[in-house]
Amino acid sequence: MSEVKSVVVVGSGIVGLSTAWHLLRSGVAVTIIEQSSVASGASYGNAGWISPDLATPLPEPSVIKFGLKSLTDRDSPLYVPPTTDGTIMTFAAKFARNCTRAKWNKAMKALLPLNNGAIEGYEEISSQSDHQDELKAKEAPILAAFYSKSDAHALQEELADIVAAGGKVTSQELSGSELANQYPYLNPSVSFAISLLGQRYIDPYKYSISLADEVRALGCELRFGVRALGVEPGHTGATTRLSNGDTIRSDAAVIATGAWTSTLAKSLGVKVSQAAGRGYSFWATSEEKIDHPIYFPAQRIACTPLDSGLRIAGTMEITGTLEAYDPRRVDAIIRSARGLLMGVNLEEREHEWVGPRPITEDGLPLIGPTKSENIWVAAGHGMWGVTHGPITGRLVAQALTSKKVPSILQPFSPLR
Ligand SMILES: Cc1cc2nc3c(=O)[nH]c(=O)nc-3n(C[C@H](O)[C@H](O)[C@H](O)COP(=O)(O)OP(=O)(O)OC[C@H]3O[C@@H](n4cnc5c(N)ncnc54)[C@H](O)[C@@H]3O)c2cc1C
Repeated sequence: MSEVKSVVVVGSGIVGLSTAWHLLRSGVAVTIIEQSSVASGASYGNAGWISPDLATPLPEPSVIKFGLKSLTDRDSPLYVPPTTDGTIMTFAAKFARNCTRAKWNKAMKALLPLNNGAIEGYEEISSQSDHQDELKAKEAPILAAFYSKSDAHALQEELADIVAAGGKVTSQELSGSELANQYPYLNPSVSFAISLLGQRYIDPYKYSISLADEVRALGCELRFGVRALGVEPGHTGATTRLSNGDTIRSDAAVIATGAWTSTLAKSLGVKVSQAAGRGYSFWATSEEKIDHPIYFPAQRIACTPLDSGLRIAGTMEITGTLEAYDPRRVDAIIRSARGLLMGVNLEEREHEWVGPRPITEDGLPLIGPTKSENIWVAAGHGMWGVTHGPITGRLVAQALTSKKVPSILQPFSPLR
């Protein structure tokens, strides 16, 4: 591949924007193609946690238990609706085969370099940008809270497994009386918590808007409301065909299209099975000021301080990306949250949202060249695209400009 001077990035989520930022900083001309508007996919209404202590591969033995339960329970945090869709059935079968302890350990080790670089990835962007305040992630502990100490067993085991795999976790346990004194917004029936220290959080949409402003100021062309219909190898680089009839020739292209990635990547030799793990969120006011994220692992609910209230997010519904918003999923989150939080007005919600987590059969992202060395994929980050977005952008830009694929990207090869 000759020197990369121009790159088309398809998708303006956290991964596409971060990749564009790093490429622009290396002197590459970048055009972003976005079918809708900035961060209109999963990067819009997610929980915004940058939480390397919790970023683990999704397929693990306990998911199978949840999956089977969900077949009969629509309120389950993991919901796999009965389907005749062959793609989803194939995905579910392949995903289930990855839910073993040995595969989880291997995948966890592969994710560690992304976890270790996650916070630094955010600091790198904010410290070198004109939007330092808007792009600064807030430091705060994530409080993982439980009705009882025994409910915490699964998370304690998972944290021990992360450490055994070589990860770092800094945590502190809190009893019921400590919680009552320090966290008046937790229901008194919440009697045990683990505080994960040194994590970060952002408002993902505001962050994406600021990063889009930043890349525009660095000379990036952003084209909204136009879809990439195909990204094909050209004579020397890549040719991107657009829904408005245009084609763009560039030295390289990066497909950063989240849960939509298989549409463009299949013809480029990418066979890893992918699906949309749809999550829901909404915003509600809080009587008390809450200044750190709260996680209810047993209910799979994530709460993030946002303006004068909380964004409350949850559920994992395995479907196609285009299916309709299902209000019953939000009702299920609210029913669970009622017994956990106090002084949060769950009846008057705003910004109800559903978005597709880009999940892969083995829980690892897709980062690397396709069968065409000029066309890369940067997608499939599942539950952790906010955490891993900026570090992914840096690794992709470095590899494209240096023409060397670092060994830490090998497990994420889209051709695996
Ligand atoms: C409820 C919920 C909570 C979450 N909480 C967290 C969290 O706390 N921390 C964390 O790390 N992660 C979290 N995630 C996961 C995270 O949101 C995703 O992993 C991440 O946003 C994926 O980013 P992306 O850029 O790959 O994809 P997206 O943000 O989905 O961006 C892809 C973009 O590509 C565009 N696109 C698609 N196809 C085309 C095409 N053909 N042409 C042009 N444009 C196209 C789409 O419109 C979209 O804007 C959460 C997800 C959900 C749903």
